[in-house]
Amino acid sequence: MPVNLWSANTLKNFWQLHCSVEDAAWQSAIQKALPILCLNPSPSDENDLLQQVLGEGQFGAGHWELSRIRRLYYELKPFIPRTLSRALRQLLQKRHQRDFELGWTIEERYPRFQFQVLKNLMELTGMSSVRFEAFWSHGRRFAFILTHDIEEENGQAFVRAVADLEESLGFRSSFNFVPERYRVDKGLMAELRERGFEIGIHGLKHDGKLFNSHSEFICRAERINHYLNEFDAVGFRSPLTLRNPEWMQTLRIEYDLSFFDTDPFEPMPGGVMSIHPFFIGHFIELPYTLVQDYTLTSVLGETSPRMWLEKVAFIRKYHGMALVNTHPDYLRRPAVLDIYRDFLIMMKTSDDYWHVLPCEIAAWWRNRADVHPRGEENGRISPVANLENGELTLEMAHGIHSNAPIS
Ligand SMILES: [Zn+2]
Repeated sequence: MPVNLWSANTLKNFWQLHCSVEDAAWQSAIQKALPILCLNPSPSDENDLLQQVLGEGQFGAGHWELSRIRRLYYELKPFIPRTLSRALRQLLQKRHQRDFELGWTIEERYPRFQFQVLKNLMELTGMSSVRFEAFWSHGRRFAFILTHDIEEENGQAFVRAVADLEESLGFRSSFNFVPERYRVDKGLMAELRERGFEIGIHGLKHDGKLFNSHSEFICRAERINHYLNEFDAVGFRSPLTLRNPEWMQTLRIEYDLSFFDTDPFEPMPGGVMSIHPFFIGHFIELPYTLVQDYTLTSVLGETSPRMWLEKVAFIRKYHGMALVNTHPDYLRRPAVLDIYRDFLIMMKTSDDYWHVLPCEIAAWWRNRADVHPRGEENGRISPVANLENGELTLEMAHGIHSNAPIS
């Protein structure tokens, strides 16, 4: 099978069962679950499947190129008034939403497929129960991660207010700075770190041109690598979520945040359909899985965290990762901040998730892939998958049972 950037994310590696199962059984289990994904053409092997889904190959060869109209828009953007550029952006977004091929805000097929494969495998091999490596620490059902991109000077000035709010509720987050757009406040970075927050990098100049050509990218990647070192950062999110997984291998990062499970509103719409972390070549991808704040409030006109909470419920069901990206620049608006605060307060009412920094989640996922099976050492608790009367149940730690979302 030809190896690609997504080859480490086989279903076998995803489940990390504590017993060995023959590859042929995995392949049969996958084959049988394939119709759930509705991929066209049908993948030739598992690597092809991973490339089509996680690698967004299903959107065609030119997927990583910005459309001509988009390019023109970013060329002209500095010269057009803000109100007009916002209107143009919304017009482009509406068009994308209309033609969008994935489910949104919930795209259930890939997680459903992952669970169905395990069920098929247990049926095929006659297993009624099997231990697997926990997705998250402490027997938690899902992961909850907060991230922020700081777009401009104004946003940077509001970072402390956002950090104060989160800290008062017991949360921590990462703040991604743009190294060459505004004067980065090093004192603020040090203070945030001191308080348990994380510093990451949000592109280089935030001008929409990072991926204009490969040579341009390589040039800028060198600068980005320099800043990763200077800011002591290991995480990255590309401005406007422009992205190219091959080119991005040049970045000396531990993890990236530029991909998403499903989003019709970004300049490069699409999605990786996964609500779990996964490998893209040498780095870990942590896709955002909750709608971005700007989309939620300015595009969709939402006035409550309802959509976020609905998505969290879906993610909890599949033991995935709820990762949200908000901007101090937009949180300055009291109406947006109210929604964010309400969301955090609602999240505070449950405690079945693992809340850590993105760098910790990335390290956890990398570690989880390294050795297996690990068993119960170091306080790790291995969940059990049970198959009874054709129904799959996952038994997490401390007697937390959950019906798998498939039957
Ligand atoms: Zn940005």
